[in-house]
Amino acid sequence: MNKVVLITGASRGIGKATAIDFASKDYDVVINYNSAKDKAEEVEKKIKDKYKVETICIKADVSNEQDVKNMVEEVIAKFGKIDVLVNNAGIAIDKEIPERTVEDFQKTLNTNLIGPFLMSREVAKYMLKENKGKIINVSSSSGIDGYVPMSIDYDCSKAALIIMTKDLALEYAPYINVNAVAPGWVNTDINKELPIDFIEEQTDKIWLKKFGEPEEIAKVISFLASDDASFINGEVIKIDGGY
Ligand code: NAD
Repeated sequence: MNKVVLITGASRGIGKATAIDFASKDYDVVINYNSAKDKAEEVEKKIKDKYKVETICIKADVSNEQDVKNMVEEVIAKFGKIDVLVNNAGIAIDKEIPERTVEDFQKTLNTNLIGPFLMSREVAKYMLKENKGKIINVSSSSGIDGYVPMSIDYDCSKAALIIMTKDLALEYAPYINVNAVAPGWVNTDINKELPIDFIEEQTDKIWLKKFGEPEEIAKVISFLASDDASFINGEVIKIDGGY
C-alpha cells in the first residue's frame, strides 16, 4: 500500500514540484487547490501520465476551518490515512507599510499561519491513530532574516510558522515529526510582480547567483518525509543558495 501525501496549494510552483516529486517516490498524492481547478488537474494528469499512483484534486481554502475539515474527511474516506502533510499554500501581499491595512495583514496570517495550524490539527488526529506521520511546513528565509518591510506581514507569518513547527513537534512527539523548510528566493509566480531591479539586486546577494527552482525545494521536503530524516524533528532547514 502506497503512502499518502497531502500537499496544500499544489496546483503550481513549489507545491506542484513537490506533488510530482512525491509521485516519483510512489506516494499517492492529494493535490489541494483554492481556485485553479484546471491547473490542479494538469498536475494530476502529469503525474498519471508518468507514475502508477493514485491522485485526487480537492478544492479547499486552507484558512477556512470547514473547508479544511471537509478536505481531510474526503482524503480519509478515499485513502483511509494521511502519512505526510505538506503545508505549502501561502500568499504574499507586497505593499509599503503606510498603505498596509489590517485586512491585508489578517489575510496573510489567516493563509500562511492559521491555515497550517488548522491543517495540522485536523490531519494529526488521523496520524496519531496510526502513531506515525510527518508534517512539513513551508516557511521562508524571510521569517528568519527577511528585512523586507514591504512584506512585513508575510515575514511575521513565516517567522511564526517556524515557532509553530517547534510547538507542534513537541505536542505530537514521539509520533509525528514536524519540520519546516525555509526557502530563499525561488522562481515561482509568487514573485512575478517583483520589479526587475529588485530581482537583480537580490540575485546578486545570493552566493549561487540565481533564484532557486521549485524542484530544489521539493527534494528537501520529500527528504524530510523520508525514513532517512527519521531523527530530524522540530527543525528548520534554510534552502537559499547562500545569502
Ligand atoms: P505560488 O504563488 O506559485 O504558490 C502558492 C500556492 O498556494 C498557489 O497555488 C495558491 O493558489 C495557493 N494558495 C494560496 N492561498 C491558498 C489558500 N487559502 N488555500 C489553498 N491554497 C492557497 O508560490 P510558491 O513560491 O510556489 O509558494 C509556495 C510556498 O512557498 C508558499 O508558502 C510561499 O510563501 C513559500 N515560499 C516561496 C518562496 C519563493 O521565493 N517563491 C520563498 C520562500 C517561501
